[in-house]
Amino acid sequence: MQFLRFRREADGRQIVDVALRGPALYAEPLLNKGSAFTTEERAKFGLEGLLPATQKTMEQQLDRVHQMLRARPDPLDKYVELAALQDRNEHLFFRLLRDNLEEFLPIVYTPTVGAATRHYSNIFRRGRGLFITPAHKGRIAKVLRQAVKFSNVRLLVVTDNEAILGIGDQGAGGMTISIGKLSIYSAAAGIHPAQTLPISLDVGTDNPVLLNDEAYLGLRQPRLRGKPYFELLDEFVDAINEVFPGALIQWEDFRKDNALAVLSRYADRVASFNDDIQGTGAIAVAGTMSAARVLGSRIADQRIIVFGAGAAGLGITQQLRAAMVADGLTPEVARQRVGVIDSRGLLVDDKPQSEEYKKELAWPAQTAADYGLGDPTQRDLASVVRHFKPTVLIGTSGIGQTFTESIVREMAKHVARPVILPLSNPTENAEAVPADLLAWTEGRCLVATGSPFDPVQVGGRTVTISQGNNAFVFPGLGLGVLVGEIKRVTPGVLAAAARALANLATQEELDTGMLFPRIHRLPEAARAVAEAVVAAAAAEGVGRMIPEADIPEQVAQATWTPDYPEFVAV
Ligand code: NAD
Repeated sequence: MQFLRFRREADGRQIVDVALRGPALYAEPLLNKGSAFTTEERAKFGLEGLLPATQKTMEQQLDRVHQMLRARPDPLDKYVELAALQDRNEHLFFRLLRDNLEEFLPIVYTPTVGAATRHYSNIFRRGRGLFITPAHKGRIAKVLRQAVKFSNVRLLVVTDNEAILGIGDQGAGGMTISIGKLSIYSAAAGIHPAQTLPISLDVGTDNPVLLNDEAYLGLRQPRLRGKPYFELLDEFVDAINEVFPGALIQWEDFRKDNALAVLSRYADRVASFNDDIQGTGAIAVAGTMSAARVLGSRIADQRIIVFGAGAAGLGITQQLRAAMVADGLTPEVARQRVGVIDSRGLLVDDKPQSEEYKKELAWPAQTAADYGLGDPTQRDLASVVRHFKPTVLIGTSGIGQTFTESIVREMAKHVARPVILPLSNPTENAEAVPADLLAWTEGRCLVATGSPFDPVQVGGRTVTISQGNNAFVFPGLGLGVLVGEIKRVTPGVLAAAARALANLATQEELDTGMLFPRIHRLPEAARAVAEAVVAAAAAEGVGRMIPEADIPEQVAQATWTPDYPEFVAV
């Protein structure tokens, strides 16, 4: 393992110490500049003869690559080309991504990454990231030391591949999700790629399609479960602490039961968070806060229904209730203001819950009775909307078209401007489409979705549909954790992230119907979220004390920009 030494001078120039020469340098994607190597660099670093004679600028290279990608209409082809570019020249890849986030985020991340995950074994070119399997037990630290190129890793996205997006167990292919998320970290938050490591914990798969697929490249055996699974994870976390002390782990796409178990099991052992639960919670709070800004009210004034009591529904409910408490409500009242519905109806404590964590989400029976929902057989979404009269309806069920016309019209009878967030992905799983929601409410509702949707014409105006994408939170959260040396991602830290994002939407964006900023503002969002996170953690005593006035500078200093660095020969 080598330490990739890079630094930023006071004038903004980025410098890298380069020990490699000739073909080895050309083959290192974090150092390769391709045709942009200058005559001097070619002479000094043993590159003469390896490249055609003409030198190009990064802008010329970007134009060429962009044209080549535009000529490929198929999103999966674009994905494969972009992955190849990342494996060849990371600065060029990240410049292209950062400067064209609206165009390429849907390729390196949802929805196209879903297809890449499914087809992983067929589109595989070369390994990126690290695969840990049960065969590595007893020597995971050694595997990390041997296989990881750079020793200054500070951020890991780790998945066990079982609950990928809305497409379930994808075995070793889940690696594409870890790679995609870390690409967004680098492009949006400016975390240097050498400091990042994607990991797939390949503990087998229970997906029969993969187990029966000759081409499948992952471990062809049923998933490790129970004690042996957690023993492997225990060793993995210890090995991370040993080899990369102080690193942050983002747990990604674990099945709900394991996600909760992993989050609490390692909370005191390693700085970590789960994006599906905690990141999504912050996104939904930010969207609700933005809507409250438009309505001139507070989050505490809302009556909210969360439809879908899984990982996302749990994180959203916890954080909405916490935001209401921060607004001055008691925890009891905050609990009564957010009701949660699962596939069996409204969660109320007069019925046994199918899973332990749902107990905290359920209403007391008295609350249900007070709202006229005392009859356990009459607690479906339509009944709840009729009696509870929610001001905000959030969809995290993964089931398309469940916010029907009659339910939405009923909601709109009681509320001047209903707030409706169908967050389920991919597109066909959205609980309703924005055009219908706006039509059924005569253009009155405020909408944001999980998947991207086209603008909608209603009543002579154009409503832009903003995306409640987790990418607005996790890059800044991770950057803040690293800068602030935050030990624990507390509810207060998440609330600060949500507030920072909610304040970011401009008046112009709000006026066109958006609740979240435009996607090209992801780098701005990452900075704002990181600064808020550092300040909140310092105030809570879970992070480094940094004087408030110094935080923006320290965040800026920690970031990298994907411009070719100057090389210093060592
Ligand atoms: P999950 O499987 O953990 O939870 C889904 C829950 O929905 C289950 O608990 C189930 O009880 C409930 N459900 C299923 N059918 C239902 C029905 N007919 N009526 C009511 N509830 C029903 O999944 P998850 O990780 O919580 O994700 C849920 C959805 O949210 C997915 O589609 C995912 O793509 C989406 N999501 C979106 C974002 C975002 O946009 N920012 C972030 C995370 C998750």
